[in-house]
Amino acid sequence: MLAAIEAGGTKFVLAVGPSPDAITARHTIPTRDPRATLAEAAAWFATQGPLTALGIGSFGPVELDRASPKWGFITTTPKPGWGDTDVARHLSVALGGLPVGFDTDVNAAALAEHAARGGEGGSLAYLTIGTGIGGGLVLDGRPVHGIAHPEVGHIYPRRHPEDATFAGTCPHHGDCLEGLAAGPAVMARWGASLSELPADHAAHAIIADYIAQACHTLFASVAVEEVVIGGGVAQTPGLVEKIAARARALDAGYLPGGARHRVIAPRLGTDSGITGAMLLAWAAAAEA
Ligand code: ZN
Repeated sequence: MLAAIEAGGTKFVLAVGPSPDAITARHTIPTRDPRATLAEAAAWFATQGPLTALGIGSFGPVELDRASPKWGFITTTPKPGWGDTDVARHLSVALGGLPVGFDTDVNAAALAEHAARGGEGGSLAYLTIGTGIGGGLVLDGRPVHGIAHPEVGHIYPRRHPEDATFAGTCPHHGDCLEGLAAGPAVMARWGASLSELPADHAAHAIIADYIAQACHTLFASVAVEEVVIGGGVAQTPGLVEKIAARARALDAGYLPGGARHRVIAPRLGTDSGITGAMLLAWAAAAEA
């Protein structure tokens, strides 16, 4: 049995199953302080029978360098209590020395969406638009880490002309992509979520423009074929289509990938993250 955790800032989704595409039980717990949350997760897994490996797709920033003593840690997160927290090795020990695979939540989701396409190679990005904005990358079939991991949510987009004065909500950068287009930034400007605002409200075009700029940046910089748009804000009806149209307009027919560059909703719906964590478990079991 493989075990998986999609570790988010508000909830942990836990799952087990015999293979990545066959989840047979799942359980969701609220994200409280690390000690209580990790103990509750370990206690649930202990009731699920013998486990072969655990995969974790985690909110971050995280340490992914296998040579670091802090591999598997959540590092500099602003989430209270979670800075410098050992997640992967702590859970491995709590579950009797289980092999653990660990990556960002968005790299896990990107891996799952990549697997769902079928085939070996290929490149895609997964963007989650919710309380924050994160991006995972799979290039030529492999997840991208670089010296840490990408933080696509913190690039600086060009300002939309109807949104010139809003300061932005990112505590680090103000008007980065996350500071302009994540859920809290929508709420701060318009007092409602995107899905609560009327379909003809200017907010839809403004947010779609910012996210489309990020898609264009990914198409132009790393030549991904697809940008998959997940997360709560992305479930706003019509938003993915608006982003796709705006990304095409921004490119103006230049990129050599042409119409093969696509902006799409997740093939796995809201299961990309937990399925990706199952894939990380699968890989950890194979390495063990
Ligand atoms: Zn930022």
